[in-house]
Amino acid sequence: MEMIPYGRQNINQADIDAVVHVLQSDFLTQGPVVRAFEKAVATYCVVQYGVAVNSATSALHIACLALGVGKGDIVWTTPITFVASANCALYCGATVDFVDIDPKTYNLSVDCLKEKLARAEQANTLPKVVIPVHLCGQPCDMESIHDLSQQYGFKIIEDASHAIGGRYKDEPIGNCRFSDITVFSFHPVKIITTGEGGMALTNDKQLANRMRLLRSHGITCDVAEMHPRSSEELWNYQQIALGFNYRMTDIHAALGLSQMQRLDEFVTKRHDIAKRYDQLLLELPVVTPWQYPDSYSSYHLYVIRLKLGEINKTHRQVYDAFRMAGILVNLHYIPVYCQPYYEKQGFRAGYCPEAERYYSEVISIPMYIGLSDEKQDRVLVELRNVTGA
Ligand SMILES: *Cc1c(COP(=O)(O)O)cnc(C)c1O
Repeated sequence: MEMIPYGRQNINQADIDAVVHVLQSDFLTQGPVVRAFEKAVATYCVVQYGVAVNSATSALHIACLALGVGKGDIVWTTPITFVASANCALYCGATVDFVDIDPKTYNLSVDCLKEKLARAEQANTLPKVVIPVHLCGQPCDMESIHDLSQQYGFKIIEDASHAIGGRYKDEPIGNCRFSDITVFSFHPVKIITTGEGGMALTNDKQLANRMRLLRSHGITCDVAEMHPRSSEELWNYQQIALGFNYRMTDIHAALGLSQMQRLDEFVTKRHDIAKRYDQLLLELPVVTPWQYPDSYSSYHLYVIRLKLGEINKTHRQVYDAFRMAGILVNLHYIPVYCQPYYEKQGFRAGYCPEAERYYSEVISIPMYIGLSDEKQDRVLVELRNVTGA
């Protein structure tokens, strides 16, 4: 029986040709295609600058560094995310804390954020940066989060790893209207792919320059940025900060640039799949994803919550039954602070009750461009079987 994954890339001949073309060109990396890809994404998102890197994890790291996150600083994010949204702060020597989720959107809850900020102000533990995550591709309530950033003086990095192609208040996610920096991921399960890859977007020229510097060893070739040296000496570049090799190659960028042409088509198709699930699942003991009216999700994921009180099985048993049937459902996500590494930092079960309730019931069912109606029907049959509906 053919396996059905929860997500996978969609590659066509044009994508393959674009990659082959780079392989036959002069530059495999640091050539013109990375710049073209950055420009294509920035233009699509209506934002000034795009800085392509080798993963969203790298993008989050240099975004934090560019905003000055360091030892003694505090960064807040949601517990229902991939670990990279929190790890980026730890890379910088900062500490991480978590804001519980909204019971309807599963995104970071603005009410919880408000309360936590008021308490943090009293305790003198306000965050330097807050990282909202657009879970499943559905944007967070960015305008409210931005208002709070003005009141409390924190910076905002949108982790939009799930969300390229989505919209918030009828404008593209990634335009940074309500944030300092937005980050995308181009991992193969995400909306478009470069194999591995990510991008940081911003309207702030200094932040963009800083991130460009950090992605390539902290080295500059720009004479204006170089430190004065005797004109007798030859300096064709200088290292002026401690950076990394986080560069994207032209091979990867070529795939991304080609995929950008189908981004809108991909998101439309994901909406069609989501609508079909919404209909098919109506009668089953599950909660389907609720959509915030001012948002257009990119539908990276389709998560359902099991009404366990109406099902004669545990969460674990439902998950295992799907997998046994060749349907590779997944779990997005275990609350980050429940991970053993984070437990060592002092977090305990019960810290974010809404997030833990969500985790105990949630399953991501297959959602990707190649998911045919037949395969979707197989998911439905299995869900009926396993829930006894
Ligand atoms: C995938 C993902 C990342 C990391 O992306 P990579 O490109 O694999 O580094 C970060 N945050 C979220 C929310 C993600 O889903």
